Amino acid sequence: MTENNLMEKIVSLCKRRGFIFPSSEIYGGLAAVYDYGPYGVELANNIKQTWWKQMVRLNDNIVGLDSAIFMQPKVWEASGHVAGFADPLVECKNCHARLRLDHLLEENGVAADEKMSEDQIGEIFEKNKNKIKCPVCGRGNFTGVKKFNLLVKSNLGNFASDWQKEPVYLRGETCQGIYVNYKNVLDSARVKIPFGIAQIGKSFRNEITARQFIFRTREFEQMEMQYFVSPGEEMKEYEKLKKARWQFYLSLGLREKNLTWHKHENLVFYAKAAYDIEYNFPFGFKELEGVHARGDYDLSQHAKFSGQDLSYADPQTKEKYVPHIIEASAGVGRTFLAVLTDAYEEEKIGQETRVVLKINRWLAPIKIAVFPLLKNKPELVKKAKQVYNQLKVDYLCEFDDNGNIGKRYRRQDEIGTPYCLTVDFETLADGQVTVRDRDTMKQTRVKVLDLDNFFRDKFV
Ligand code: ATP
Repeated sequence: MTENNLMEKIVSLCKRRGFIFPSSEIYGGLAAVYDYGPYGVELANNIKQTWWKQMVRLNDNIVGLDSAIFMQPKVWEASGHVAGFADPLVECKNCHARLRLDHLLEENGVAADEKMSEDQIGEIFEKNKNKIKCPVCGRGNFTGVKKFNLLVKSNLGNFASDWQKEPVYLRGETCQGIYVNYKNVLDSARVKIPFGIAQIGKSFRNEITARQFIFRTREFEQMEMQYFVSPGEEMKEYEKLKKARWQFYLSLGLREKNLTWHKHENLVFYAKAAYDIEYNFPFGFKELEGVHARGDYDLSQHAKFSGQDLSYADPQTKEKYVPHIIEASAGVGRTFLAVLTDAYEEEKIGQETRVVLKINRWLAPIKIAVFPLLKNKPELVKKAKQVYNQLKVDYLCEFDDNGNIGKRYRRQDEIGTPYCLTVDFETLADGQVTVRDRDTMKQTRVKVLDLDNFFRDKFV
């Protein structure tokens, strides 16, 4: 499979089988915004639950938070987003397409990447200007480089009619909600440094170019954990966090050869270290998650802009300091796409091609599909419904009596259902059903009475 081919196949499967739909499709869609369909929402929820379990449930000193999307606009001034959260943009003078400069260079085969500073990218552009072509119209005449701010404005509280001057933004990242609640959590939960606050939620960015499906969207979900540490412990804790984050992706079943660390060479002035975990998407290795050591920048900025004391007094040593922060910042959509990319397989079976998503069993949207062998035999349908009703209490199940068994298997393979269970005429006599394994396609007979036992350890 060529890379583009694989991407096209994944996009098509997502639409056909109800994982991802373009937003407001009946109206022609909305660029870089997507909806998660019936199986998509289950898979995304499973990814989020796994993250939450590993972060919050299994770590005694990490607590959860769900902060609001709207925040006091000063937050975004303090964080530096109002002044500096911008991508370099050029406009094609011929067709007026607005293009993100680092992407434009990349598409024209000029080495540049998202981690370079704006000045570096600007210089590369100036040097190579005569060979850069617009991907929309093919001409090569561009405006100078401008900065395009990615914050999305709203008209919330538009009573004073000056919201254009002082807009309330839709948050550009979830972690700001964590920083501004640091003191609330410290004062209310029984935590001491080092401790972390974890949050999963929506973020919004006015991305210049909409491309690569759910990899880069204007509305997306982040899973972020900010860990508050004493200055001397920052780098030790950072190394621990890096290891844990790598393990998370292995635990999702991603192949290790498809993961890599990318070191940021151009650190912002306050950062101690910055690495990204990249995944080998069909369009190459790209960022899945950032793991950064941020020094005391975030809390110091919020202390300065809010006038509040955000320092921490160590109860034992009585030492007072502004905590340093290390963060793990991941995207749900990108993890979702990585899981699908890793799991997508095509197998030749005789003359046919079987498309199968070999997703970890416990991540799969549907765990067990239950079929009556024939639709028009009421006794089989009745028994199959009984089995289905018994299993659906504990597992997300699907009942399907549509089409021949082969077709039903293929459909479940495509959505990654680990087990299909068929009720046939023998079931009525011996109380056993056929359980078919997605990966091996092996079939075994299992007593209905033993099904709970059979499945007990299969999805943990
Ligand atoms: P990129 O360089 O790809 O634009 P970023 O470095 O700006 O990403 P961060 O601000 O570090 O990203 O955000 C943390 C995580 O949030 C990213 O690793 C990614 O998984 C996710 N993310 C960021 N922007 C988007 C987006 N537009 N669409 C989907 N996910 C995103």
